[in-house]
Amino acid sequence: MATAIVTGASQGIGACIAKRLAKDGFDVVINHYPSDSDKEKALAVAEECRAFSVKAECYSADVSKFEDCENMVKQVKADFGTIDALVNNAGITKDSLLARMTEDAYDAVIAVNQKSVYNMMKHVCPVMMKQKHGSIVNVSSVAGLYGNAGQVNYSASKAAIIGMTKTVAKEYGRKNITCNAVAPGFIHTPMTDVLSDELKAKMLEAVALRRYGEPEEIASVVSFLVSENASYVTGQVIEISGGLSM
Ligand code: NAD
Repeated sequence: MATAIVTGASQGIGACIAKRLAKDGFDVVINHYPSDSDKEKALAVAEECRAFSVKAECYSADVSKFEDCENMVKQVKADFGTIDALVNNAGITKDSLLARMTEDAYDAVIAVNQKSVYNMMKHVCPVMMKQKHGSIVNVSSVAGLYGNAGQVNYSASKAAIIGMTKTVAKEYGRKNITCNAVAPGFIHTPMTDVLSDELKAKMLEAVALRRYGEPEEIASVVSFLVSENASYVTGQVIEISGGLSM
């Protein structure tokens, strides 16, 4: 059975990706932030995954921390045997205009959104190399492609992920490891629920399909990218935004 790790999978898009990959037949590693509330939510996600008759276990790790990722990957390799897919989904926002953005807010978003992708790929790639196969999907954002006022930290982290994705695709292609990114637009999750109704309405005016995306619509593209159907796709960024920019 193939194994997939999904970071930040206790809720939102990550939880949905974990469930979709379980439905596809992957054993799933549900990474969650080390807090009681995230653990509780992750356990519920694992339960839903097991309904598809696959193995699903929760692993607590702050993916912004190098050692946490190293320990988690070692443990997963020992528990599951192989690591066939990695989905770097964990992310946070700490929005404000540059003029008001503190150094702490900048550093925190870079650590969780960008450094985590390095931390995870650094430890998972050697495992995939030995197996001579693997697929990585990094969750970027339209903010990384086009920028977004109030998100200098977030857009920097998400643009960096795109550069990292293309670089890893080039470095590991000969080892039969694919590395792609998805760039979601406005998706219904706890991350976007906090936005004001006025801002939500304004954002939708720019979306050709005139609606928010659902987490399942991100999960279905990730499902494709980690499947055999995408075996000749690497180094690509797939925008999933309902036609935000064309
Ligand atoms: P969310 O806030 O619902 O989920 C984020 C998850 O990441 C949570 O489970 C959280 O606990 C986890 N997380 C945060 N910090 C972590 C850490 N240090 N270690 C481990 N886990 C951590 O948000 P979401 O909307 O589901 O976002 C998922 C991903 O999709 C993020 O990378 C986000 O930037 C990206 N994205 C979301 C949207 C959107 O509209 N919702 C758009 C573009 C990109």
